Amino acid sequence: MDFSRVALSADDQAFQDDLRAFLGEIVTEEVIRRDRDTGENFDEGVHLALADKGYLAADFTDETDGGFTRLRRRIWDLEIGRAHTPWFHWGTTAMVAHIVEKFAPQDLLDEVLPGMLAGRIRLCLGYTEPEGGSDVATCKTRAVRDGDEWIINGSKMFTSNAQNAQFVFLLTNTAPDAPKHQSLTMFLVPLDTPGVEIQGLRTVDGDRTNIVYYSDVRVSDRYRIGEVNGGWTVMRVALDAEHGVMEHDSAGLQKIAMMSEHGLLLGEAVDGTAAQVGAPGADGSRRIDDAAVQSRLGRAVARTEAALSTPEMFGRVAIAQTMREVAPELMDILGTPALLPADTEGAVDDGAAEYVFRLAGPTGIYGGTLEVFRNMIAQHALGLGKPNYSPPKPRT
Ligand SMILES: Cc1cc2nc3c(=O)[nH]c(=O)nc-3n(C[C@H](O)[C@H](O)[C@H](O)COP(=O)(O)OP(=O)(O)OC[C@H]3O[C@@H](n4cnc5c(N)ncnc54)[C@H](O)[C@@H]3O)c2cc1C
Repeated sequence: MDFSRVALSADDQAFQDDLRAFLGEIVTEEVIRRDRDTGENFDEGVHLALADKGYLAADFTDETDGGFTRLRRRIWDLEIGRAHTPWFHWGTTAMVAHIVEKFAPQDLLDEVLPGMLAGRIRLCLGYTEPEGGSDVATCKTRAVRDGDEWIINGSKMFTSNAQNAQFVFLLTNTAPDAPKHQSLTMFLVPLDTPGVEIQGLRTVDGDRTNIVYYSDVRVSDRYRIGEVNGGWTVMRVALDAEHGVMEHDSAGLQKIAMMSEHGLLLGEAVDGTAAQVGAPGADGSRRIDDAAVQSRLGRAVARTEAALSTPEMFGRVAIAQTMREVAPELMDILGTPALLPADTEGAVDDGAAEYVFRLAGPTGIYGGTLEVFRNMIAQHALGLGKPNYSPPKPRT
């Protein structure tokens, strides 16, 4: 939504102006450059500053309990994205904290929530394992009870932001002989517990994620979230939130789909490409005057707009798929220098299309792969029934 075309009340306008000015102060060029260099998607200074101003608490809290109004929440999301704030892990922290609120005892809430709202406590997700992530219920990381404690052994793949988090929301197996959906127990494990080892990993788009090893990690039973062997009930809520299968309100102000921020980066790359091909070259000619460039760029614009207007699970797939197809098209239109990444001499539009090209792969993987989302759409939205994975019948 373009708020330059929607009249805001004086108070809401002041909110937007203050927020934009504050983000302008704290999300500096240096913050953005460091984020790009490290791939952390997180900046502690920015995070703490936003917490100090009360923005984290307002975003976390429902409107009825004093949080942002729907309109301000929308402005908040847009301004955070517009400023290129290193930000993705707040979503994970807030999502886990909402689940903790729902399932954890009061003393654990008292330990975690105030620090989380003050920005000091961050939470990350430990579901995926080296042997597979789509079917999370096949979890092999074991938790074995020992009196009032549990002993955890195993390893988790792609635990993003573990290096900046204080707790991991950990999926474990507590009943290896039971059917898989009755074998799971969730914990909120303090990451400074002896036996936890975090090993950094960079992805193709430069993001930092981690492999985390758990060797005889002792955790008190008070860090258990939900019932023993009842972890699937907790996970279902968590997966629904991560998959964006939430009810949408009728005001049209909510974020349209998960990963729409990534779609905005594609939009910026399309705009940048249009500016490049519209500018006259050394001989005065413009590439946009070539009918083939017009057609390919026009298609890229239309596909990007369509993806950014597609809601919920469908939008999640449309955004990643469009990034995968449009980014190479933009690079092709721009020519060989478009292969150069940002901050490289000779890069076109500071490597915007090249970055989206590398980002597109992981965007279709984390939080559930595109294939898994397509199955969910087929099953839950189109009512086509469960996918059948049995081997094809031999021909007679
Ligand atoms: C950058 C990054 C950050 C991540 N951050 C986190 C994190 O913080 N915490 C966390 O727990 N996980 C995280 N993940 C893991 C992510 O959720 C998994 O990678 C994802 O769920 C897929 O699991 P997998 O990689 O094990 O692939 P697999 O599940 O092994 O899948 C392999 C291939 O088989 C296909 N496939 C699998 N099952 C089906 C099916 N039923 N139908 C059709 N096709 C199928 C998949 O689409 C894929 O192409 C992250 C991943 C990445 C890349």
